[in-house]
Amino acid sequence: MNGGVAAMPGPLAGRRALVTGAAGDIGAAISSALCAAGCLVAVTDLDLVAAQRQVQEMTEAAGAVALELDVRSSSSANDAIATAVDRLGGLDILVNNAGVARDARLDRLTDEDWNAVLDIDLRGYFFCARAAAPHLRAGGHGRIVNISSRAHLGNRGQANYSAAKAGVIGLTRALSLELGRDAITVNAVAPGMIDTALVRNHPKADQIVERAAAATPMGRIGAPGDVASVVAFLASDGASYISGEVIHVTGGRY
Ligand code: NDP
Repeated sequence: MNGGVAAMPGPLAGRRALVTGAAGDIGAAISSALCAAGCLVAVTDLDLVAAQRQVQEMTEAAGAVALELDVRSSSSANDAIATAVDRLGGLDILVNNAGVARDARLDRLTDEDWNAVLDIDLRGYFFCARAAAPHLRAGGHGRIVNISSRAHLGNRGQANYSAAKAGVIGLTRALSLELGRDAITVNAVAPGMIDTALVRNHPKADQIVERAAAATPMGRIGAPGDVASVVAFLASDGASYISGEVIHVTGGRY
């Protein structure tokens, strides 16, 4: 039972998804895209009120529920995923999206900023994947989509973030090997610079955005929807034989 939550018609009609960090810009766009495709979506975030606000703002919110999930805590991940399974009637799709950046060059990079980024951007993905796997297995067509970043290639001032996002790719590949026999696909999406709060809150945001747009073959930075549409594809039946891949969403920039 899904608690009476109604699914929309669409290519993912009736599938059940959970998105972490879903009150943020990319997570919100992913949640909306999955809802529009017919998914029932658990919109989860560190901040429950922000997740609730996000559900209210979604134009196609049929079947969306807001839940608190702090990815730094395995018990929070376990509890939120159990609640989502209960409220939605199961779980087919996990989108590991919650992430933060704490940029500094090596000699100024503190233990706290190293740990904060690794805890949220890598360890949190593991906690959620481990908690979700039994439920994804039960449905027979599970999907894990991990949001990495082009920064996995290495960026100056982002040793912590680059290490975490490269780690996400290793995690993705290892889990694709382990979970393939359960018909669960595991893929990563590696966006280039996307116009979100994570970028706009940087003290040198305007300069960074201008430089990134100039270095991008398509001449602009990305929008959250550019990432969301790729996640929706990887969650779809059309992607059922794609696993262990990293899809770059960078406007052609490498
Ligand atoms: P946002 O800052 O807009 O959203 C991130 C969300 O994650 C926020 O709602 C944030 O909450 C939440 N969050 C922070 N800590 C936790 C936690 N411990 N548990 C659960 N949720 C948490 O960032 P984006 O939308 O830009 O980023 C989404 C993902 O995309 C991240 O993984 C990021 O690394 C990745 N990415 C982003 C790029 C970009 O250019 N924007 C490029 C490449 C990858 P709060 O606001 O309260 O902190």
